[in-house]
Amino acid sequence: MRKILVVGAGQSGLQLALGLLSEDYDVTLVDPRGPDEVRAGGVMSTQCLFGPALRRERRHGLAFWDDEAPEVNGVGVRVAARRGGGVPDVDWVGRLTEPARSVDQRLKLATWLELFVQGGGRFLRHRVSRAEMEALGTEYDLVVVAAGRGGLAEIFPRDTRRFHFEEPQRRLALAYVSGGEEHPAGGVLARTVVPEAGEVFTLPTLSLNGPCHAVMVEAVPGGPLDRPLPRGATGDVVLAGLLDVMRRYAPWEYERFSSARLADPRAALYGGYVPVVREPVVRMPGGTLVWGMADSVVSNDPITAQGANMASLCADVYRRAIVDHGGRPFDEAFMRGAFDTYWRSARQVTAWSRVMLSGPPHVWELYRLAERHRPTADRFADSFSDPTGLIDWFLHPERALEYVDGIRRTTDFSSHLPTT
Ligand SMILES: Cc1cc2nc3c(=O)[nH]c(=O)nc-3n(C[C@H](O)[C@H](O)[C@H](O)COP(=O)(O)OP(=O)(O)OC[C@H]3O[C@@H](n4cnc5c(N)ncnc54)[C@H](O)[C@@H]3O)c2cc1C
Repeated sequence: MRKILVVGAGQSGLQLALGLLSEDYDVTLVDPRGPDEVRAGGVMSTQCLFGPALRRERRHGLAFWDDEAPEVNGVGVRVAARRGGGVPDVDWVGRLTEPARSVDQRLKLATWLELFVQGGGRFLRHRVSRAEMEALGTEYDLVVVAAGRGGLAEIFPRDTRRFHFEEPQRRLALAYVSGGEEHPAGGVLARTVVPEAGEVFTLPTLSLNGPCHAVMVEAVPGGPLDRPLPRGATGDVVLAGLLDVMRRYAPWEYERFSSARLADPRAALYGGYVPVVREPVVRMPGGTLVWGMADSVVSNDPITAQGANMASLCADVYRRAIVDHGGRPFDEAFMRGAFDTYWRSARQVTAWSRVMLSGPPHVWELYRLAERHRPTADRFADSFSDPTGLIDWFLHPERALEYVDGIRRTTDFSSHLPTT
């Protein structure tokens, strides 16, 4: 039986560990937190998963929240008017072909970890250091690091050919709240863009105490949405900052959440990180090869809500590669080959994130078109499920403007009313 070590019990690590366990591998999973600590800890993400990632979880018997988690049926885009005021310049909702869902990672990862242990997986509660990687690795046929962003991920050198930022591109503030009102169009991942200042997101989610909403501000550091907070700021302080930003810059969202309260005492998050692409393989000084997965090697800003979706994809690609590889040694060529398969999709998300972070003029053209042309709005929404087609019409200015011209030439706009 082949012995696999997975470091990190997050979206990708658990999904891979559970998948390999069910294929009869001898799997050891290491994470500093057990299920109880994860449940009692702070929120980590808004983790909206779209159709393909949800289907993957269903296929592997990991979708326990389909009946409880509210459906997200659309992606909304509003662009706040530069002159301010209570009416956005652009306002539409694109429909998703398959519903999306968000389940608090505290709930999901704690449950999956329990499942892993019940299924015979070995779980070690430990924070692995760089120095320990070497010794740990020698006992296993394969060592995978799925430790998320930062920390241990730094064993993988940055790949500046693929992606290069030196600083966080947004300061993130997030709270899960109860008492918010539904979006007028129903279950919507709603995104308000405040030009050059950042974004406000809201979406229905399932948290520890039942359905609620996630409210998030992505502020350009130092800009008007940025509310610098001291280390250790309480959840109520984070929420007060979020509400203040919404009141001033996204009043249509403030109306929905003005009397909202924190869903639980640990339901807020504040911080930022540098998006980065890293080398997927590193050889430790003693010769052990270590393979990086998901955020540990490709991490993007959450502006496109793709990190957990890509973590799910990466876990799937790696599991299939491991199984297909049979009894052969897991060498560097194997690791790089599987990563390249993953990168073919991940690179599109990386490119998309960069476009969304910088908001070039062609994106505003597409947003304006989508307001009058429902198929464009729906196509944008479905790109969250499958970003690979964005290269044909959204990412590149020339192709985007060709697309806009083509639609304008051939469309009777009176038949495409906005969906708000
Ligand atoms: C504010 C915010 C909002 C987001 N919203 C979305 C969204 O709507 N949709 C979406 O798809 N993605 C979203 N993401 C991104 C998504 O949450 C991550 O990309 C995803 O969870 C990454 O999965 P992962 O398995 O790589 O790492 P993680 O899920 O981060 O798991 C890493 C695990 O490794 C463990 N670990 C860390 N260091 C060590 C160590 N030294 N030893 C052992 N274990 C270790 C950690 O405890 C953790 O359990 C968001 C992220 C943020 C910050």
